[in-house]
Amino acid sequence: MTTGEADRPRHGNHGCYLRIDVTSQASESERIDQQALRRFLGGSGLGTYLLLREGAAEVDPLAPEAVLAFVFSPLVGSPLTTSAKFAVVSKSPLTGRLNDSLASSRFALEGKKTGHDAILLRGKAAQPSVLLVDDDQVRVEPAEDLWGLSCPDVERSLKKRYGPDYQAAVIGPAGEQQVRYATISHDGRHAGRGGSGAVLGSKNIKAVLVRGSRRVTWSQPEELVELAKELSKKSFGPATAKYRELGTAANMLLLNRLKALPTRNFQQGSFEQAVELSPEQLGVTRTKTRTSCAACTIGCEHIYGPIDDDSKDSTGTRVEYENLFALGSLCGVGESDDVLRASRRCDELGLDTISAGGTIAFAMECVERGYWDVPWLQFGDGKALLQAIEWIGKRHDVGDMLAEGSRCLAEKIGHDSIQFAPQVKGLEIPGYEPRALQTMGLGFAVAARGADHNRSSAYEVDIAEGAQRHNLPPTAAAQAVETENRAAIMDSLILCKFLRGVFGDLYGEAAEMLQQVTGWDVDGKELEETAQRIVTAKKWFNIRAGWKPAEDTLPARFLNESLADDQQAQISKTDFQQAVRAYNQCRGWSDDGWIQTDQLEQLGIDHQPPTG
Ligand code: SF4
Repeated sequence: MTTGEADRPRHGNHGCYLRIDVTSQASESERIDQQALRRFLGGSGLGTYLLLREGAAEVDPLAPEAVLAFVFSPLVGSPLTTSAKFAVVSKSPLTGRLNDSLASSRFALEGKKTGHDAILLRGKAAQPSVLLVDDDQVRVEPAEDLWGLSCPDVERSLKKRYGPDYQAAVIGPAGEQQVRYATISHDGRHAGRGGSGAVLGSKNIKAVLVRGSRRVTWSQPEELVELAKELSKKSFGPATAKYRELGTAANMLLLNRLKALPTRNFQQGSFEQAVELSPEQLGVTRTKTRTSCAACTIGCEHIYGPIDDDSKDSTGTRVEYENLFALGSLCGVGESDDVLRASRRCDELGLDTISAGGTIAFAMECVERGYWDVPWLQFGDGKALLQAIEWIGKRHDVGDMLAEGSRCLAEKIGHDSIQFAPQVKGLEIPGYEPRALQTMGLGFAVAARGADHNRSSAYEVDIAEGAQRHNLPPTAAAQAVETENRAAIMDSLILCKFLRGVFGDLYGEAAEMLQQVTGWDVDGKELEETAQRIVTAKKWFNIRAGWKPAEDTLPARFLNESLADDQQAQISKTDFQQAVRAYNQCRGWSDDGWIQTDQLEQLGIDHQPPTG
């Protein structure tokens, strides 16, 4: 696409992306016009736009032609708190649908300084390699000696080899082995869900290193600094206190009380050893330090240590709610040493903890029912959990089948196991029991990425005072749309979700930030339409990738059985299907979820197949 000078962004964005073919090492800078940047913002939104433009929906996600995009945003590098983030967008090898994962820190700041709003990769290097992007200069260097190293070890080696100026996004052994839920890691944080690490591994690229010298300007720098100070002040307030004090696991005991803490592969909603895994208890029995991503004033990261009899644990283990639930209650493991060790091992191997725990817990139930002959893989056995993680990361023995995720594993194991494989569109369900939190259940069913608490944080609707969480209220569809729209804006700007509680009027306040950064005369109403455009573009990607209406549902277990420890926690199949229809109507799609061409046109989403 070529555009005139008038279409070039003047502030906040560079107005181009870098397209790299790692097979030939050729690269070219492609223009992105103002209109597209304003329509899709950055992060998840811009990534979806670029993938559609590059024709990525129709391609096998692990084929050399597949596209993997690192996407920044107009706010990256600004003084706004929590804005040092990047999105990794590709077609998911786990779901075959759109995958957008977010991660934080200096990779985002340095990557944007290369002078591009996004860096896109396709192709496959001839041998294990690293890719270096230094402003416009691109090179692929052989790096066979790094193959096999863990995520933290490879980052350390790269720092020694290339110096501290480069920032690296890396894969661990799981990415090399193309485990379908492998992560891309930077500085201990992960673009976690959906297997972007497998996509990078399929290109024979162990790490992407970025270094740059090009900064963008801000439209109203003085006002922006004042706004940033104000936002930082608000970020210290009560809306974020629980993240500072207890981290992301702050809701664990509440969810356990509500019988909404998934336990033993979603057979129960409460776990008898939840207290031992709770941050309240971990903080008593272990040393604790707090840290944060770059440019963040909240600091939700809690590092616990040490673990008994393991000298390597002196650095401590970063603990998130999703790790504690997926590797703890979901697998029936209540010994905190085992859960922390499993969590850290997933981080080292580069595995998504939710999908690893979900697949292992599903396998444990299959073994318990006599569907799979792996007698050592039992609920509650921490050593078996660690063994399974190790083997998944290396695709060793049964780890090879577990590396495919629960949906594929169910297809191989057979019987009626697909009915209790804990996934939507192939993505394992996060730590919110859908029968006890039914608006969240609806959000899981309809989300483009599959079962997803980050693209639809509707659990907040369910756990609010007086909520009808045991059934689907008439407002559920509208609430699912609204939480998804807000997430689409935050993930495209890109701001941390833990900031969401500090906004009185997210769209209006986000518009003010964008005005000061970019100079656009954008308002809150425009951003509401932007959110609808971004969610619709993701759905359009999925339709082009082969989406069918039957995908927008929950596994049969959730529609046929109540929870063993809460008979009230039951979803009516008819009500659920009606809620999915109502969601589609709220979006302006057909009752089944198809998008009309005129709606795509109205939203400015290109619906023509890409040409070459
Ligand atoms: S709140 Fe937590 S996840 Fe969000 S930017 Fe800060 S440290 Fe990172």
